[in-house]
Amino acid sequence: MAPDQRRRIRVTGTVQGVGFRPFVWRLATGLALAGEVSNDTQGVLIEAEGPSDALDTFEARLRSDHPPLARVESVEAKPVAVTGLLGFSIVASRDLGGTTSPVSVDIATCADCLAEMADPDDRRYHYPFINCTNCGPRYTIIRSIPYDRASTTMSGFTMCDACRQEYEDPGDRRFHAEPVACPACGPVAILRSATDGATVATGPEAVAEAARRLVAGQILAVKGLGGYHLAVDANHEQAVSELRRRKARDHKPFAVMVPGLDQAHDLVQLSPQAADALVSPRRPIVLAPRRPGGVADPVAPGLSELGVMLAYTPLHYLLLEATGRPLVMTSGNLSDEPIAHIDDDAMARLGPMVHAVLTHDRPIHIRCDDSVVRLAPQSGETQLIRRSRGYAPEPILLTWAVARPLLAVGAELKNTVSVAAGRALTTSHHIGDLEHLAAFQSFRQAIDHLCHLAGVIPEVVAHDLHPEYVSTKFADDLDLPAIAVQHHHAHIASCLVDHFRDDRVLGIAFDGTGMGDDGTLWGGEFLVADLDGYERVGHLLPVTLPGGAAAIREPWRMAMQWSTRACSETEARRYGASVDERWEAVLDLIERATGPVTTSAGRLFDAVSALLGIRDRISYEAQAAIELEARAAGQALVPARPWENGAAVVATPGQPSVLDPSPLVARVIAERDRGTPVAEVSAAFHEAFGRATADLAADLAGKAGVGVVALSGGVFQNARLSAVVEANLKSAGLEVLVHCRVPPNDGGVSIGQAAVVGRLNA
Ligand code: ZN
Ligand code: ZN
Ligand code: FE
Repeated sequence: MAPDQRRRIRVTGTVQGVGFRPFVWRLATGLALAGEVSNDTQGVLIEAEGPSDALDTFEARLRSDHPPLARVESVEAKPVAVTGLLGFSIVASRDLGGTTSPVSVDIATCADCLAEMADPDDRRYHYPFINCTNCGPRYTIIRSIPYDRASTTMSGFTMCDACRQEYEDPGDRRFHAEPVACPACGPVAILRSATDGATVATGPEAVAEAARRLVAGQILAVKGLGGYHLAVDANHEQAVSELRRRKARDHKPFAVMVPGLDQAHDLVQLSPQAADALVSPRRPIVLAPRRPGGVADPVAPGLSELGVMLAYTPLHYLLLEATGRPLVMTSGNLSDEPIAHIDDDAMARLGPMVHAVLTHDRPIHIRCDDSVVRLAPQSGETQLIRRSRGYAPEPILLTWAVARPLLAVGAELKNTVSVAAGRALTTSHHIGDLEHLAAFQSFRQAIDHLCHLAGVIPEVVAHDLHPEYVSTKFADDLDLPAIAVQHHHAHIASCLVDHFRDDRVLGIAFDGTGMGDDGTLWGGEFLVADLDGYERVGHLLPVTLPGGAAAIREPWRMAMQWSTRACSETEARRYGASVDERWEAVLDLIERATGPVTTSAGRLFDAVSALLGIRDRISYEAQAAIELEARAAGQALVPARPWENGAAVVATPGQPSVLDPSPLVARVIAERDRGTPVAEVSAAFHEAFGRATADLAADLAGKAGVGVVALSGGVFQNARLSAVVEANLKSAGLEVLVHCRVPPNDGGVSIGQAAVVGRLNA
């Protein structure tokens, strides 16, 4: 028999908090190997001793048989001196400093835990905080690494003997499940009065009473994994409307939570991919076509889609079981402020909005909103719209290594921040709109926490080109070299990172607005770009924003602007007089061309929405454009009689090509006046504008000698536009990159910034 060997094996990747050490223990003991396994800041460290063939098998199976939630990046072994010791053990975490191991994401309650929770003979029967190594809170309860109970918000709970036994038994599903708990030793559910915070009920009675109140039409704040939700019965029209009033949220859609796929099927139409996304342990909100009569209309007014998610904590399951109906579960905040996650703050901010608060005594360390996905119109693949709970802070692996460790601070709205070192790019949860002071505080906390968890000490900071963004000012105040990245270049770079690419592409970046390198507000851009740079080769026709930011809140102003361009001043007067008494002043602004100059595609969609009478003032970002798209639901992608006149392209040698959509706007006005149904006009406009966009992109790609087109920017959340552009580009023989892992909107900007600055040599 060959003499024994001993190997020190380093495993990196997402290997902490996912049941990796017990897996190693079972594997090693199964192969009769001796040694030990531990977590440290770099991942998992194993010493294994035994015959070389058994050690080879062991190494191979570390890669192939690991637990479902683990992600193994590398397994590296080197020989060390044989000890002759027997037995295999799991040793406590050690803090070695240096680079770090990614922290696991929060994971929805697993099937085993659900079964125990439903079993009256189980000691965790109906226990709202049941979890195991395969499920439960992670990112949101971790204060520091390495991941160990003492460094989580569970540190204040002392395990009872029964829990400790499970925790210490390598054969148990709860072996080293850090948040392990039971009714005897763990957190407890508490129902509080909204007026004075007094305890109304605790334990099972708290859940039962909360359910009774929801059924009666009350509004409750409910503490979840990454923050508080505001909850009401989704079938209770009056309660939903009252929630809108109290939350000061007029129209923005609410998400609905149900316990299982069957109930989701009742509310929305689900493709197999959408169903997969719903049941995934990441548990995002999935946007899907709404079924009539599913939930009360004010849940998502004017929209053809509904955001649905499945329960993801045991407390959610118990609450849904007790109410027996779908619940609106919307972020616990007023308007667009950050979601409340600290108990006192939640009581202060949400108390006035709700009838009662269903809370618990396990603190949330970091706030983390629900993630949102939809299914890409062409491929049917999942596409992240908001990348947060269940996804953050899982790193994205670059195909190359960044030149030096860096921080990227993102844009202004839908902010996220990213850090990168080596090949790992780690992005924070969704932080929100930085113009709110509370969001800015959250932004600073997220940066500190992310640097700590990812073990990155930034040597350079990437920021947007816009000098007035709060994130830009923050970056400039750091004692680090600060490098600006043009907003739309960042969008295209983020799409490349999304697809693990670094080649040169024709990027189409359509969004609201971002600062251009000529000082105007870009937003309808055609860039020949790679991670190292870009050239602006085309854009939408520049127009002024009459009244600046007011033109964003009031799409009728852009409608007047585009009617002037497309038809005549007379037409603009006629339209303006029909919608707002300030029309003359706005016309004056248009004529004198005062206001910031923009090439924004988002503003063009706003204008068309207003011209069709769909929405002339908005209460949430991109509302007019979203409702314009919703109106076309059910219409074919290519209309029976497509508009033969496209947008005009103005090409001047040496200058970027200009796409002038005026002929399309004129057609919109003509069709409207002819009485063509709005649904048909909307569909035809999407098709014609998408085709014109693809035609110009194909032409520009040909001139630049590139065969790939990347679509990015928030406007490409418009599924109809995205589908038309993609289909036309593909039929022109081009490869098309659409977003999947990285949001197309400004939530992806920090990722693009990180990639661009990561390429720069020190
Ligand atoms: Zn579990
Ligand atoms: Zn216990
Ligand atoms: Fe943008």
